[in-house]
Parts: sequence; structure tokens; C-alpha cells
Amino acid sequence: MIARRIHVSGVVQGVGFRPWVWQRAASLGLVGWVRNSSSGVEIHAEGDHAAIEAMLASVAHQPPPLAAIESVTTVPADPSGASAFVILDSLDHPGGSLPVAPDIAVCDDCLREMHDPADRRYRYPFINCTNCGPRFSIVLGIPYDRANTTMGPFRMCPECRAQYDDPSNRRFHAQPIACPGCGPQAALELNGRVVARREDAIARARSMLAEGLIVAIKGLGGFHLACDATDTDAVARLRSRKRREQRPFALMCRDAATVFRFVPEDPRREAILRSPERPIVLFPAIDPGAIAPGVAPGRAELGFMLAYTPLHHLLLEPAGGFPDVLVMTSANLSDEPIAYEDDDARRRLAPLADALLVHDRPIRMRTDDSVVTAFEGRRVFLRRSRGFAPLPVALPLDGPPTLAFGADMKNAFCLTRERHAFISHHIGEMGTVETERAFEDAARHFERLFRVHPHRIAHDLHPDYASTRAALARAGSDHLPAVAVQHHHAHAASCMADNAIPPDRRAIGVIFDGTGYGTDGKVWGGEFLLCSYASFERAMQLRYSPLPGGDAAARRPYRGALAALRAAGIPWDHDIAAVRAATLQELEILEGQLNAGINTPDSSSMGRLFDAFASLLGICHRADHEGQAPCLLESAARSSPTDDTAYEFAIDDADIDPSPALRAAVRDLRRGVDARTIALRFHRGVAAMVTACCRRLRDEHGIGTVALSGGVWQNTLLMELAVPMLRAHGFTTLIHYNVPANDGGIALGQACVAHAVIAAAPHP
Ligand code: ZN
Ligand code: ZN
Ligand code: FE
Repeated sequence: MIARRIHVSGVVQGVGFRPWVWQRAASLGLVGWVRNSSSGVEIHAEGDHAAIEAMLASVAHQPPPLAAIESVTTVPADPSGASAFVILDSLDHPGGSLPVAPDIAVCDDCLREMHDPADRRYRYPFINCTNCGPRFSIVLGIPYDRANTTMGPFRMCPECRAQYDDPSNRRFHAQPIACPGCGPQAALELNGRVVARREDAIARARSMLAEGLIVAIKGLGGFHLACDATDTDAVARLRSRKRREQRPFALMCRDAATVFRFVPEDPRREAILRSPERPIVLFPAIDPGAIAPGVAPGRAELGFMLAYTPLHHLLLEPAGGFPDVLVMTSANLSDEPIAYEDDDARRRLAPLADALLVHDRPIRMRTDDSVVTAFEGRRVFLRRSRGFAPLPVALPLDGPPTLAFGADMKNAFCLTRERHAFISHHIGEMGTVETERAFEDAARHFERLFRVHPHRIAHDLHPDYASTRAALARAGSDHLPAVAVQHHHAHAASCMADNAIPPDRRAIGVIFDGTGYGTDGKVWGGEFLLCSYASFERAMQLRYSPLPGGDAAARRPYRGALAALRAAGIPWDHDIAAVRAATLQELEILEGQLNAGINTPDSSSMGRLFDAFASLLGICHRADHEGQAPCLLESAARSSPTDDTAYEFAIDDADIDPSPALRAAVRDLRRGVDARTIALRFHRGVAAMVTACCRRLRDEHGIGTVALSGGVWQNTLLMELAVPMLRAHGFTTLIHYNVPANDGGIALGQACVAHAVIAAAPHP
């Protein structure tokens, strides 16, 4: 008989870990105890050597489905002479900390019960267990127990209580446990009045949706606006109520088989679609059949997710000719944060929705749906939020607790503690009162949840970013040092950290981005950086060209196209679509502006070059959000017949001039070459240019690792062209897998740079 004290860290609370240990211990004949602590789970196990070894092996290699084990440490202990294995109350180590589990889709066991007429939770839309359901969105504080969630005010009925207290039950300490007798309920509101409750509420919402109406639905992390995605009028009405913004709408189906009635089957994407995180997955949509064209205008891809709450499953039941696919788009206007509080939703969604399907389980932390695509069959993030936040990403280097504020677009922040970078959910576009308030609230919430007070602030170098102002205000009020990190250095560092590159390594950062503030005060975005976490050198860049109207040019791609044409010495002839997109008067003004250099900051942005090509080809002259024109250009290129031509860039020393590519494109346009083929030739040209530049930099500097980051690298066609080419030339090619390549991943890089800068600083 020996005794061992085992400490397990990682995501081990709120995931059914203790009852699982209890059951394992019972089957192995071990005695002792298990308990949650604020730094993990502690196990005291007594028994024979083989049984303890078997327990350790199970913990390390077959933990319960939602657990993520980081470390298992064991020390000898004195036998206590216990006669059974028990679950003890939680122990709170002051200052201890551990990851909080994200929100997870309803599990198959719960769904089975929900469909079983004999079960007491038959058709109950808030069924959950230790393997599924809300977590991050309902946590108020730690340790994670009922009172520290928004379920606190619901008193458990005796049956739920018995399950909650029974270690052999799947709902042992399932904090959101509930049933129709004691838990939250659904209600349907029309014109601010509850008109139906419970099953009736869902039935009414279903008939409204089937009739082509728009219903706001409260979900796990916020409200969605839903309508029948096959109803062209309903989709058009939703677009007009959302002020005609052009962003694609996400779609929801009840199961994967239904999704594949609209997009081609793809086993790798299907696996991602069905994963318990249930992200929105982009699928190529060649002939999406009955889906209304207004869902994703001009896009070659559609974003699908599967029903992920029990309420969604009830809502999407196939009976009675109910639509197979719903639009489920974030319930907000353009750049506002998603609505998540009931009163706020009533006010903000009244003009958008015909009715609200609500429930009385409060959401503490709003979390938008995550959006992913697949590259070489692996999941790649476009937005990392629900299902993933607030899981940490491992940091490649140590440093004091740091709060990195991210950038202004697609904001997500990052709070570090030891080697953990806790990356926030999607916050949104900074610069409005609502997002800044949401940021502040979320950052403070993270500090409480992970029990860490930042010792250092990291932020973007841009002096006019709202995120920079917020960072400096925080640094000032808390008397903390602040580290300004150049935008594209942060992108490169983020990609290196994403791939666990150690601090002594350097990489060629190929950072293709929409915009970012350069060390020379100009707009960067087409950069080849030689970098480590601690420092960078700008080795090559896309040639500066004037950007009429500065950052506002992102909304008017034709202006960038006109400036690019001029820089390439191509006259503004009227056979070019981008020229026709401007009025004669505007052309005159623009000409004067460019001649005089008024409000035309220099830019090396690759994102803007993609914009220019999109306009040149007549694909997009006006964009209502960043990245729209490049997405449409990618969609066009994807639908082109195969073609081997690659437009050329003139590479001279540190300077990369796109003029030859522009001239070739205009020549092809005039020859009547299909715009989609021109778009593909441009993509191929960029991939070839990247490879040529990296080869030159490797020859000169001996660096064989390339990090691809920045918003332009969300373009998977460009990745499909560039990554194999770089590999064929012997480069170790890093892309993002754990955070997005866009600004949503930048806070991780800021934190790494801040850590490295401090480590490199001479000690006083
Ligand atoms: Zn479950
Ligand atoms: Zn109950
Ligand atoms: Fe960026």
C-alpha cells in the first residue's frame, strides 16, 4: 500500500473531472480523495503501485472529453488509512489560477434525453451536463461553482439537487444544471410584451420564421437575428434593416447532412463543423441551390454552423415544412457589439426583428460565434471567440503579467500569466463608446477570473488608435509601464508564438495587411521583416504609393485603383472600370490632390493593392467593411478556369513595385481576358513575388523560416499558392492555427514583444 498526492493543471474544472476521477478510483480499488483547488485538481490516492500508475496513465492520456491536461505532478504522501474514495469541497489557494472552460455545444447524451418522452427534461431547451453547455458566458468569478455563475439565483429542485450531489451522475456538479421545474424558460416577446412561454414560445417563433419573418433569438453568448435563408424576400428585408451592409450572413442547419445539400461534401470541414466548439465554417459554395443570393453577395463561400444549444435543436426540428437552413447573424448594427443583455436587446433589436425569442438565464460575457476555414484540412481561425475563449495559448517566453490591448479592428485583447496568454473573445471595432466599454468590462473580468493584475501594458504604436488611448489611460491610472509595439512586428511575433518558435530564433515576417502605423509614420502593410520577438528590421516593402483619403480609402477601392494606375504610368482611360466608378469632377479633384500631395499619405499596404485590383476588374468599387474587396477578388479568382500565368512585380533592392502587374492586368482587360482569370493571375503573381523575396532574404541573411501574417493571409487561395511554393524552396513556413492572422491575433504578438523587450533590456 502506497500513497501519492497528484496535482493536475489545465482545463480541469467544470468539465466533469472530479466524478471521472472518483469513478476511475472506485474501479481501480483506490481510496483517498479528489478536490478542486484554485490552481487545478488535487488527488490523494492510496492503493497498490499498479493501481496508482493506472490512475496516472488515465489522467494523462484518457481524461474526460472537455478536459485539457497541461501538467500532472506527483509527490509521495503519507497514507491516511481512509476506507473509501471521496470528493472533498473545493480548496481555494489565494493567488492560484486556472483556465476557465469555454462554452460547449449540447452533447449527444443530453440530446437523447431531450428527445425521450419519459425523461423529465423532455423537450427542455436548457438541458446540459458536465460535458456540455454554457461556461465562460455565465461565469461571474472563481472558483467555478453555482453561486459564481448567472445560474446562482435559480434554486435547484430536489431531483436536480440529487443529481448535482451524486458523483456517479453525469450532472455531478454541473453548475448550470436545470430542469423544466426549476430552471430557465423561454418566452416570445412581441412589441415588448410576452405573448407565449415555454414550448408555445418556440412553436410561435417557428411559425413566424416559416412565414418569412425575422426573429431575434437569445443564444449562448448573445442574440442572433434569424430568418429563413431560402426566402429571398426575408433575407432582403433583413439586409435592409441592417442598413444594407454587405457582410455575409452565417447560416445554421440542424445537422451536417442538411449542410451538404447546399455545399459539396468535405470530410475535413465536416469534422470541424461537428466539433463541440461548433464554429461557423466557411465552405466553397459552387451552386448553393435554394440559398437566397442576398445571404453572401458575390462570395464563393458560405459560412455554416450546426445547431449548438438545445434551444436551436428544438427550433430547427424538421417537422411541418420548417426551413432547413436559417440565417443566424449577430444581432447588431454593423460595427456595434453583439447584443446580449435583455433590456439592451429589446431596445436595439426592436427595429430589426419582428419578435424576440428570449430566456431568463443571463449572459455575463457576450461571445460572438467563432469563424473558421480550413487550410490543408486544418482549422484556421478568422475569428476566435465562442467555444475557444478564454482558453489560453502557450507563450514561448516568460514575462511579468501583461495586458496587451490589441488593435482597433477586430479587437481581442490578451492577458498573460506565467506562460499562459488568455486571449479574449471577439470585442469588435474599437472607437465607439459601446466597444470601449465592452473592452474595459471584459479586461477587468479576465483579471478577476485569472487572478492577475497586469504589471505591464502593451499596445499598438499608432498614436491615434482608440486602443492605444485606452492602453495609455490604463497605464497612467495604474502607474504601469507601457510598451508600444509596431503593428506588423506584432503580427509576425503572433505567428511565431502561434507556432511555438523559441525566443532565440529569427524569421522572415511576410506581413500583408490592410493598414498599420509604421515607424516612419507612414501606412505600412506590405512588409518583409527580419524579426525576433525582441526586435525587427524592415528588409523589403511594397513600394509606397499615395493613398487618397488615407484609411478612408479602404471604403472606396476605386480611389486606390486610380492612384495605383497613376503610379504605374497608366492613363485614366474610360475603358477601365475603376475610372468609370468616379465622376468626372471626382477625377479632377483626385488628380489635383495627387499632384499636390494633399491628404494622400504614403502607403505600402498589400490590402489596398488587393482593393485596387478588385476595382480595376470592376468587382468592387465601394466596400462597406474592411476586407470586402479582397474577399470578392479571391472569390473571383477561385471561380476562374485554371491558368498558369503569374503577373510580375519588379523587385529592386528593398523595393517591390507592383506596376508591371497593373500594366499586365490592364493589357489583359483590353484583350478581353476574363476578370476572374486576371484575378487569379494577380494572386499567382503575389505568391511568386513572396517566394522570390524570401529567397533573396535567405541568401543575404541566412534565415530559412517564414512567418505569414496580417489580414491579407486570411485569403486561403493566396495561402494555397504561396505555402507550397515556399516549402518547395525549402522554407519552414509558419501560418496561424491558434489565433487569427488578422488583427484579432495581434494582442498575442504584442505580449510576446513586450516580454522579449523587457528580457533584452539591460538590468539597472
Ligand atoms: Zn450534456
Ligand atoms: Zn430541477
Ligand atoms: Fe493588421
